[in-house]
Amino acid sequence: MDILSLNTQIQVCTLCKLSRTRNYSVAGEGSSSPKVMFVGEAPGNREDSEGRPFVGYAGRILDSALNKAGIKRSEIFITNVVKCRPPNNRLPQKDEILACRQYLDKQISLLSPKIICILGSTAYRSILGGKSIIADRGKIVKKEGKEFFLTVHPASVRYNKILYSALENDMLTLAKMYNSKLGLSQRNTTGKKKRIAVSKNKVYKLITSVSDINE
Ligand code: URA
Repeated sequence: MDILSLNTQIQVCTLCKLSRTRNYSVAGEGSSSPKVMFVGEAPGNREDSEGRPFVGYAGRILDSALNKAGIKRSEIFITNVVKCRPPNNRLPQKDEILACRQYLDKQISLLSPKIICILGSTAYRSILGGKSIIADRGKIVKKEGKEFFLTVHPASVRYNKILYSALENDMLTLAKMYNSKLGLSQRNTTGKKKRIAVSKNKVYKLITSVSDINE
């Protein structure tokens, strides 16, 4: 299976009850060879109506922290633990997380990110069995041959300047980490990268140049 067929499978998934209330499932989007995969909680209202991850309020916070750290959306992959919006933005339930887990596992194995960045407590608990993301943020956890970097969820920093700075600092740490780990030499010199974009439940194009996605 490749990532595009997996996206299609996610778009038509009916494994849990969230499929009955969603508008669009949100498989995720970004580079097809990402240095970092970001994993959030679940799509919100805006994501549900656009079929894209982190495009609402939390997305703007994330974008701002990524920009300050010099991390481009085009070089990462962003997804969620649960691919469909829980009604009224409630927390995803255990059965929903469990049903969706196979998709995240397949995304990780197909895309082989060097680092997986956990955004917030739902992802921390469900992927690593962690307890307090606030206590553990900024740390690296190694599990089953994979490396995870922990930070707070962008939506949680809304009224909290300290958490907002924590997110910004963590993104700077992450950027330094992957630049030193991978070496800038791994960037290709033309700046061209393959990118997979999924929108409105359709795989609408395969983008091969960074400039294509800045439109
Ligand atoms: N919050 C998330 O966890 N994921 C999104 O895609 C949007 C908001």
